[in-house]
Amino acid sequence: TFPKRIALLGSTGSIGRQTLDVVRRFPEHFRIVALAARSNVDLLAQQVQEFRPDLVTCFADAPEVEARARQLLPQALLGEQGLLAVATHADADILVAATSGLVGMVPTLAAIGAGKTIALANKETLVMAGHLVTQAAQRAGVPIYPIDSEHSAIWQCLRGEEKHDIQRLLLTASGGPFRTTPLDELQAVSVKQALAHPTWQMGPKITIDSATLMNKGLEIIESHWLFGIPYEKMDVVVHPESIIHSMVEFIDGSIKMQASLPSMHLPIMNALGYPHRLDASETDFIRELRWADVASLHFEDLDLSRFPCFRLAIEAGKRGGTYSCALVGADEEAVELFLAGKIGYLEIAQLIEAVLERHQSVEQPDVATTLEACAWGRRTVRELWKKRA
Ligand code: NDP
Ligand code: MG
Repeated sequence: TFPKRIALLGSTGSIGRQTLDVVRRFPEHFRIVALAARSNVDLLAQQVQEFRPDLVTCFADAPEVEARARQLLPQALLGEQGLLAVATHADADILVAATSGLVGMVPTLAAIGAGKTIALANKETLVMAGHLVTQAAQRAGVPIYPIDSEHSAIWQCLRGEEKHDIQRLLLTASGGPFRTTPLDELQAVSVKQALAHPTWQMGPKITIDSATLMNKGLEIIESHWLFGIPYEKMDVVVHPESIIHSMVEFIDGSIKMQASLPSMHLPIMNALGYPHRLDASETDFIRELRWADVASLHFEDLDLSRFPCFRLAIEAGKRGGTYSCALVGADEEAVELFLAGKIGYLEIAQLIEAVLERHQSVEQPDVATTLEACAWGRRTVRELWKKRA
């Protein structure tokens, strides 16, 4: 099955760069056939030099980016069709979907339709359109391999197991930078503090989502679709060291868990290499886990009063319809306002809650309806914020 040919959406991002690290280290296993990015033209040009893909595309949604792309990457396909062209590239076996936000959804669906195996980092795709993605994948007989570390852990724990033997999925959460911050100090926390994640280096949006635990809520919804498990059979446990990446409890009481020092290279290697494991011993991707050095691991219950975004996400997931789409849109906008210094930390959850209260959900939404509901969520956050300001 090697070499596998890879199309990569979001090559200049945190997951995208780490995907290319893996490809660089295993040249006999993988070949890059197509790359897509948005604005980081200089890095994209370097990647093209190194990996020589057949197709390179740049979304270039600003005039200066477009000019730079024309200069450095005259061969690149610019604009909106780039993502679709990369996702459905005829020579690709696997699509790595690692753009941030919603833009990955339609191209991922198109890749499934074109019979590509999906290595999925972009969680918004499953949160908004889990029903469409899983149906399409089933119809096309296409597997979806998770890159998100919790889902990769669960996926590894489930190998060789039967679904009816699962008692419960237990996702671990680091608790983020504000796990122990006194509640009355939360409103005043700065963007810089919120961006300082204790265990993971990630893009800005997901880092804020990890501080509010919106990320963990999105991951529960993601798990619901990936593994077909009802919400009642999923729980979260706070584990500040991020060494146990998640667990599965079986009906006989046995619990499997997957452990490693925090590294996204590992779940990426898992998704790309499956069903084989890649030998990481010659790489610097993963440091050896010396249990004696770890000495102790900590676990605690999730304090829901501290993390309202988590509760909002679970409620939206359970209610179904377009609630999760409105949630994703509202969260994107609220996080952007927070990152821009326009709202305080606690207002992220307040705005999202106000949006969900106003939402008129549509059952079994099609692609256009999911996108509309998401755009509505965004718009409504903005309107509510303007009224407050
Ligand atoms: P980043 O913000 O670091 O990277 C996003 C990437 O997407 C960049 O390459 C960016 O291009 C590209 N991109 C954004 N919009 C477009 C567009 N319209 N067209 C083409 N390319 C676009 O995000 P992360 O890598 O952190 O996260 C990616 C996804 O993976 C997210 O959905 C996140 O939730 C998920 N994830 C990330 C984890 C992590 O450790 N980082 C862990 C688990 C999940 P450019 O930089 O050129 O503008
Ligand atoms: Mg995760």
